[in-house]
Amino acid sequence: MPIEDSYKHKGMRRQLVNKIRAKGITDQNVLRAINTVPRHAFLDNAFLEHAYQDKAFQIGEGQTISQPYTVAFQSQLLQVKPGDKILEIGTGSGYQCSVLLELGAKVYTIEYNWPLHQRAARLLKTLGYQAHLVHGDGTKGMPSFAPYDGIIVTAGAPTVPMTLVEQLAPGGKLVIPVGDRKSQKMLLITKEPGGKITKKEFDHFSFVPLLGQHGWEK
Ligand code: SAH
Repeated sequence: MPIEDSYKHKGMRRQLVNKIRAKGITDQNVLRAINTVPRHAFLDNAFLEHAYQDKAFQIGEGQTISQPYTVAFQSQLLQVKPGDKILEIGTGSGYQCSVLLELGAKVYTIEYNWPLHQRAARLLKTLGYQAHLVHGDGTKGMPSFAPYDGIIVTAGAPTVPMTLVEQLAPGGKLVIPVGDRKSQKMLLITKEPGGKITKKEFDHFSFVPLLGQHGWEK
């Protein structure tokens, strides 16, 4: 069934964009992408009125779709250019993946949870979005398609997995929330063209835990 995107949805989306702009997101391309992706399609119908609030929301399997401000913040840090190859760890609902696609990226995304992986694959297809979706442990990255211009981790990590840093192209960026299970600091790790690794720290966020080999234990 095609997904309806009414004037009401579009209007609510514009208000959401105004809200995240007021919170400090300045990247016009990111704001445009948020204004384009029908976030309501990523939530159950029963929760429609929540789709355009600036809030995280349950998507089943104990997981959440990230808050729109958080999606915008991480996307802005990545500085995606059209044609960039981006790896996402934690497909979840597929919303962040769709925002990256609207920014012109070629997206590879990994999800650990099989039902969520399947659901996201179906939904993205329905919406006409094309990405490379894989089921597996994203803390190992996706070496077969490396290197990446950007890697975005959308679950909270205990430490920076070196496997991911290794899969960055020269000049590539890794955006990853690192901390404890409840609260994490957003980090921007850059592999300079010469190979030097630099790190910048940003605000605290609250993500669900990154599991797997280089993540938390279940
Ligand atoms: N980006 C998502 C939000 C994801 S929530 C969105 O836009 O909706 C974090 C997701 O990371 C959850 O779906 C969780 O199952 C997944 N996850 C946790 N550990 C993982 C791992 N090691 N590899 C891949 N996905 C993982």
